[in-house]
Amino acid sequence: MKRIFSGIKPTGHLTLGNYLGAVRRWVEVDQHQADALFSVVDLHALTVEHDPARVRRLSRQAATLLLAAGLDPERCTVFVQSHVDEHARLSYLMECVATDGEMRRMIQYKEKSLRARESGESVRLSLLTYPALMAADILAYGTDEVPVGEDQTQHVELARDLAVRFNHRYGHVFTVPKATHPVVAARVMDLQDPRSKMGKSHENGAGIVYLLDDADTVRRKIMRAVTDSGREVVYDREAAPGVANLLDVLAAATGGNPIGLAGVYESYGSLKKDTAEAVVELLRPVRERHAELAADPAQVDEVLRAGAERARGMARPLVDRAYRAIGL
Ligand code: ADP
Repeated sequence: MKRIFSGIKPTGHLTLGNYLGAVRRWVEVDQHQADALFSVVDLHALTVEHDPARVRRLSRQAATLLLAAGLDPERCTVFVQSHVDEHARLSYLMECVATDGEMRRMIQYKEKSLRARESGESVRLSLLTYPALMAADILAYGTDEVPVGEDQTQHVELARDLAVRFNHRYGHVFTVPKATHPVVAARVMDLQDPRSKMGKSHENGAGIVYLLDDADTVRRKIMRAVTDSGREVVYDREAAPGVANLLDVLAAATGGNPIGLAGVYESYGSLKKDTAEAVVELLRPVRERHAELAADPAQVDEVLRAGAERARGMARPLVDRAYRAIGL
């Protein structure tokens, strides 16, 4: 059975982008078709300025939301990255296989380090080495496929390169993974700034639908989405990104096709209204289940404890082999 690994960073509240771009497919497809591991990758949340209590709270909330969204601990392994030491252990080996040039070329590093410098913050070294840890996350489990949004493609490519290089230099240890993307909504854009992705770490919450937003908040955010200067509803991601984004979201929420849906609407207002209602209905069960689970933290703790134990059992022999192969 093929092995799948994917993760989510507890750097903010989970968004509609996380759900449509990643989590929904983990729930509906991946956990049924593969031996799948899903991790709240909390070590990655420390690469930028962070508040310890907030990271801890958000990790827990993210794990609870993954379960609320439908990940079933009977079918897949759900765990918190820092509970399994093998990630950090293997990350160091990855840093010894990667080059600094490779790390500096990563688009996300360039963007995030620029943003940090612009706001007068220092750039943590871990922001640069982030892809080495992400490679370790993936490779530690002999992963075949990494289902992610398109923004993560470059990092998964690097994990592939490092696996190939390690195997070539030190003998075959790692499976060479590949990224897979959902067909629609691989990239949900910010409602107020449809040329940048809806990211949970962005400051401006007005363009971001959070999974735990109540129905009225979801409606308000979508009704206020920035559209384009034209009037016709056409699907054109370049010329009319705001409308295309709404069509993508509506299509993803209802199982339709964005280009076909464009022909159905005569005004931006009705498109927004239907999109808002579709998203409200999509998120309702997740929010309800989250409230139930959050009321029973011991149950969530137990799922995460068992998940970490299972993950450790898979990663440890492989990481031990890598240590031996590299000469330790
Ligand atoms: P974020 O960018 O919100 O911090 P993460 O890096 O934690 O998200 O990514 C979790 C998963 O969600 C990844 O698979 C990522 O590709 C996906 N994802 C994040 N934002 C979006 C988006 N706006 N559209 C589609 N997928 C997204």
